[in-house]
Amino acid sequence: MHWRTRLVQPQALAPADFKSLTVPTHRASTVLFERQADVRDGWRQDEHGYTYGVYGTPTALELGARIAQLEKAHHTFVVPGGQAAIALVYLALGRAGSHVLVPHSAYGPNLKLARGMLERFGVTIEGYDPLIGAGIADLIRADTALVWTESPGSVTMEIQDVPAICAAAHARGVPVALDNTYAAGVLFDAFAHGVDISIQALTKYVGGHSDLLLGTVSVATAELKTRLGDAHQQLGLAVSPDDCTLALRGLQTLALRLDHLERATLEIARWLREQPQIEAVYHPALPGSPGHEIWARDFTGSASVFSILFKPDYDAARVAGFIDALQLFRIGMSWGGVTSLALSYPELKRPHRDYAGRLVRLNIGLEAVDELIADLAQALARV
Ligand SMILES: *Cc1c(COP(=O)(O)O)cnc(C)c1O
Repeated sequence: MHWRTRLVQPQALAPADFKSLTVPTHRASTVLFERQADVRDGWRQDEHGYTYGVYGTPTALELGARIAQLEKAHHTFVVPGGQAAIALVYLALGRAGSHVLVPHSAYGPNLKLARGMLERFGVTIEGYDPLIGAGIADLIRADTALVWTESPGSVTMEIQDVPAICAAAHARGVPVALDNTYAAGVLFDAFAHGVDISIQALTKYVGGHSDLLLGTVSVATAELKTRLGDAHQQLGLAVSPDDCTLALRGLQTLALRLDHLERATLEIARWLREQPQIEAVYHPALPGSPGHEIWARDFTGSASVFSILFKPDYDAARVAGFIDALQLFRIGMSWGGVTSLALSYPELKRPHRDYAGRLVRLNIGLEAVDELIADLAQALARV
């Protein structure tokens, strides 16, 4: 062969039979077939083999299979991020003229998508009180296509009675989706509690180092696998195998990180509860936090993110001063990494509650706990 041809038609030269502990990073758009008769364009690799890179290389499928095993799901799809996971569920199950219930405490961009693009496509979105429990039955209509849940809720941390919501929805034949990001797919057994679809932002705990964006959609049944898989193919939600490799590495230390983060976060949350500037600490494992009793019944642990509410004599500007005074806590979105973060929400309101800019969300990282407490103490003293 001419060297030009050989450059693009190489034979494998390295010795075969390499064994290591890592999953190979397979990068590919083109997937090769042996014969023309074998050519397919399908996403069901278990039936007809691999067909195209968009539907995942073995690296993405290994990650999906491991998440499915952890969550005890029928099947897991890997998507480009948590928000893409939410979009996939909505676009697979929603239809023009249908009705979808979303808790007021849902992740902000989720609400934006529901009230934006979905309503534009003719889906009616109805918000509901995250603590409604079995009362959701009164909101389910003949045209309800989906009940969304997220537990705990973003920023305000309400734990939902997911089993009661599932029972009420299933009695009317309506599927329930859960944003299970807080539980990292392991602290809350979504499918055992009745959920039909569990999504996660792997960006948070599975990635664990603030350096990748990925999400998963896990389903309970073969029927949902088909509906979600067809929508996944139509939307072309391709993921980077390099990111999948990072997520696979993150899984290896997930248990250790979660154990440490739970202890450190509880210690800091309990300390904050004693401070005179703080009116409330919203941490699901602390009594008084909304839905705490349900957390104690349904969860096997708590994670690294929680919120604090300053007393009414602190306005949004003073709370911003507190955030700016922090030295170790950095200011930024996302959570579940190794670095402690703080963020206030000056605009955040719920239908029956105005937090008046006094709410701060903290993410605890892997720094020394007494130094994090000292940082919070000096910032509190300054405001
Ligand atoms: C971060 C987050 C998402 C979105 O994940 P991305 O990977 O950032 O798109 C979805 N749900 C919850 C609860 C989150 O915290």
